[in-house]
Amino acid sequence: MVVMPGGIDIHSHIAGPKVNAGRIMRPEDHYKIFMRMVLGVRRSGTGRTTPSTNMIGYKYARMGWTTVFEPATPPLETRHTHEELDDIPILDKGCFPLLDSNWFVLDYLQNKEYEKCATFIGWIMDAIKGYAVKIVDPGVAEAWGWGRGVGLCLDDPIPGYNLTPKEIVRSLCKVNSMLKLPHPIHVHCNRLGFPGNYTCTIDTMDAVSDLGLNVDFPVIHITHVQFTGYAGDSWATLRSGGEEIAKYVNNHKHVSIDLGQVIFGDSTTMTADAPFEFVLHHLAPGKWTSADVEAETSSGIVPYKYKKKNLVNTVQWCIGLEVALLVKDPWRIFPTTDHPNAGPFTSYPTVLSWLISKKAREKMFEQVNRRGLRRTALPAIDREYDLQLYQPLTENMTFMK
Ligand SMILES: [Zn+2]
Repeated sequence: MVVMPGGIDIHSHIAGPKVNAGRIMRPEDHYKIFMRMVLGVRRSGTGRTTPSTNMIGYKYARMGWTTVFEPATPPLETRHTHEELDDIPILDKGCFPLLDSNWFVLDYLQNKEYEKCATFIGWIMDAIKGYAVKIVDPGVAEAWGWGRGVGLCLDDPIPGYNLTPKEIVRSLCKVNSMLKLPHPIHVHCNRLGFPGNYTCTIDTMDAVSDLGLNVDFPVIHITHVQFTGYAGDSWATLRSGGEEIAKYVNNHKHVSIDLGQVIFGDSTTMTADAPFEFVLHHLAPGKWTSADVEAETSSGIVPYKYKKKNLVNTVQWCIGLEVALLVKDPWRIFPTTDHPNAGPFTSYPTVLSWLISKKAREKMFEQVNRRGLRRTALPAIDREYDLQLYQPLTENMTFMK
């Protein structure tokens, strides 16, 4: 038993228009979990993957987490995000405005007017009380507005602009350091959810490696790396790219990452990466919401179920843990489930059990898809996190052929 001194969740979708749309679109999620009101002590609430505002506060606090960041808010609708954040009890909260497809930002970046871009973003942060710059599949919402953007790569042109996703990432990284914001650019990589995307993730990290040379803190944060850690060239040949990502992080100090660890069971995926949700809706037919915020960003929501016996879901489950266990520096890697995308935040104690106990992982190995398991390095990893500050791995880290 461990008393958490105050956990910080760097990436959890807890407030704002898409979270609320997710609640409305999934009444079935709210039949399953109910919290009783206790007069004078707590309010009532419902929901597992898209819980009521107050339940979010109670359930995080119960696990020892005290600070949570909503990682994707459209500036024009952030007033709503704050209304919900204000309604969440106990926790400290913040939010990251979506800026990679904002027309003003794109105009400034295209003209290489970095000072003006910094001034504009400084104004946005002040006007809507944002905490960090969020980049989602850079430029994708603009491409999606033209019916394109599915599988947008780092060097593809953004329709209507003389810009590529790589230029957006590099430029916003520069602007971020000009503004001295307290968190690096928070990046959801291009090609999220596509087999073979781990190379795009490494290229994204590498695109700003020179900008992190003279500082001793990360200049880029790659979020829910599990969703962008896929090797193979189709769903049939999918395997883990986690080992390669971990190697890059171990060799480069300018990067921090979080997991997006998969939890088997029901989830509600929600992201500003609207074309990905369009693709997912065709892979998992059922409910789908797609929305566009004028001249700023887009979003999509699709309910999804992760199954233990499914090959792809098993590989996904392994990647998060594999990266967490192979990255040597625990200060640059954060346990998240990208709530509610890969699973609900209420499963964090289970995630921690997998990180601190090989036995707990082996118990899962017996239940998951065997073929999927063989496509990852996870079964070969012995590391167990403990309460020591730093536990070095052996130097010889090649687990995969
Ligand atoms: Zn997310």
